[in-house]
Amino acid sequence: MRSKLVAGNWKMHGSLAENEALLGGLKSGWAAGAGCDCAVCVPFPYLEQVRTLLQGSPIAWGAQDLSEFPKGAYTGEVSAQMVRDFGCRYVIVGHSERRAMHAEDSELVARKVKAAQSVGLTPIVCVGETLEQRESGVTDAVVKAQLVAVMDELGASAMSNVVVAYEPVWAIGTGKTATPEQAQAVHAMIRAEIAGRNASVAASVRILYGGSVKAANAAELFAMADIDGALVGGASLDANEFLAICRAGAPARR
Ligand code: PEP
Repeated sequence: MRSKLVAGNWKMHGSLAENEALLGGLKSGWAAGAGCDCAVCVPFPYLEQVRTLLQGSPIAWGAQDLSEFPKGAYTGEVSAQMVRDFGCRYVIVGHSERRAMHAEDSELVARKVKAAQSVGLTPIVCVGETLEQRESGVTDAVVKAQLVAVMDELGASAMSNVVVAYEPVWAIGTGKTATPEQAQAVHAMIRAEIAGRNASVAASVRILYGGSVKAANAAELFAMADIDGALVGGASLDANEFLAICRAGAPARR
């Protein structure tokens, strides 16, 4: 049985004061009733603050990107080991905002996934189609190609230390959520694609859904057979909302 994981993506939000209030709210809310496995992925400058505030708590933390290179003359880049030095367990790789705004292609995403794994980070690899691609009926082909690029680079067995996040681009930050059935269909396709290479890895790999997840729709998404949690953007900035999503994934709720 795969336990649920809810990961928050703060994107470029926060300040020292806001983070302290948000993390304080998460920790005290957690003490009042635990949820599922949980993490927050924060901007690089706040990793030390988050490590200080979350160490010893059940909430893990991570970064939102990393360099494909281990070190060198790459001004502005942050290596996997640097991220690891701050106690991160996770790193988001290939978010659609980076694919679209920073021209990250699937081959670069695959190399970043490899860099993350090389230092013991668990990459949360984002895949997903645009609205135009969905409307032209190529969702499965697009998502499959994004996934295959990673499996070709890593080998299927390394997928056991990957979290996949299916995030339809048209649902991110728009308030439009894929229906549970739409999401489940793509999640099942992703799992089948992995199973084609390694059935036992496919059975254990966690596939998160992302795209306007909130407390009001989390439970129905989590009820689907192949949805193993959520990658949460906007709603992860509100402690009560984020906690409610985590509780929707707690074992007692399923
Ligand atoms: C995201 O940033 O990965 C995301 C899913 O955002 P939102 O929940 O705001 O749609």
